Amino acid sequence: MLAKKKYGQNFLINEKIIQDIVQLIDNVQKNDLIIEIGPGKGALTKYLINKPCNIKCIEIDKDMHKYLDKYQSENCNIIYNDILQVDLKNLICNYDNIYVIGNLPYYITTPIIDYLIKNIKAKKMVFMVQKEVADRLTAKPNTKNYGYYTLYLNYYYNVYNEIFVCRNNFNPIPKVDSEVISLNVRENIPIVDKEKYFKLLKDAFSHKRKTLKNNLINYDFNKIQNILNKYKLDENVRAEQISEEVFIEISKII
Ligand code: SAM
Repeated sequence: MLAKKKYGQNFLINEKIIQDIVQLIDNVQKNDLIIEIGPGKGALTKYLINKPCNIKCIEIDKDMHKYLDKYQSENCNIIYNDILQVDLKNLICNYDNIYVIGNLPYYITTPIIDYLIKNIKAKKMVFMVQKEVADRLTAKPNTKNYGYYTLYLNYYYNVYNEIFVCRNNFNPIPKVDSEVISLNVRENIPIVDKEKYFKLLKDAFSHKRKTLKNNLINYDFNKIQNILNKYKLDENVRAEQISEEVFIEISKII
C-alpha cells in the first residue's frame, strides 16, 4: 500500500530507534493509559502492547486496519478518527496517569500539541517531530529558536531532546531529519494570570527584529523597566533574551 502524503505517512523502519522511543514511556501502572497518536502500521504499537496498562491508538486512516487489527484487545483499543476530533476528556476519565506517544504527522504537529495541552494533563508525552520544530520547542534564551511557542509549551511541560533520527530511517524518506522529544509535566507551574501572561508573550515576540520596548508600545514601560533593571537587562533588550522568570515577573505588574 502506498503511503498517503496527505496524512504525513512516513513510517519508521529502524527497529532499534522504535524500541528506544517506546522505552521513554516507563514505570506505567495497571490503571494508567497510553494514548498513541497515528499508529500507522503499528511500529510503536507492537511494543506498547507489552506495557501493563491500557492503550488507545488514534489513527485517521481506516486503511491501516489491515496492520492494526491484530493489536486490538481488551487492553488495546484502535480508534479510527482524527485526533483533533476525539473527545480527550472523556477518553481519559477512568484512568490515573495519562501518557501520550506518537511519531506525529508533520503537517499537523503544532495543532496536535495545542489540542493536547488544552484538553489533558499528561504525566509524560513522547513525540517524534521535525528537527526544526524540536529545536524551537527546546530552545534556550539568547538563541534564534527561542520564542513564544517555546515559552508557551515550557509553561506546562519540561521539554527535553531525546533522540536524533536521521531521515533515512523512514519509508518513504521525508525531506527533513527528525528528533524525539519528551514533555514531562511541570508539577510546580508558576502562578500567573495565564491570559495576561500569554498575551504579554505574544506581544513581546510579535516582531522578532524589534526591541521589547517597541513591541510593548501599548504597555506602561516604566514599570517594566524597573524589572529589567533588577535583572540587569538593557532597555534595548529583545524578547528572545528574556527568561521565563523575568516574563512572569513582568506579567504580575502590568
Ligand atoms: N507510528 C507510525 C510509525 O512510526 O511508523 C506512523 C507515523 S506517520 C509519521 C503518522 C501517522 O499519523 C500516520 O499513520 C497517519 O495516517 C496518522 N495521522 C495523520 N493525521 C492524523 C490525524 N489527524 N489523527 C490521527 N492520526 C493521523
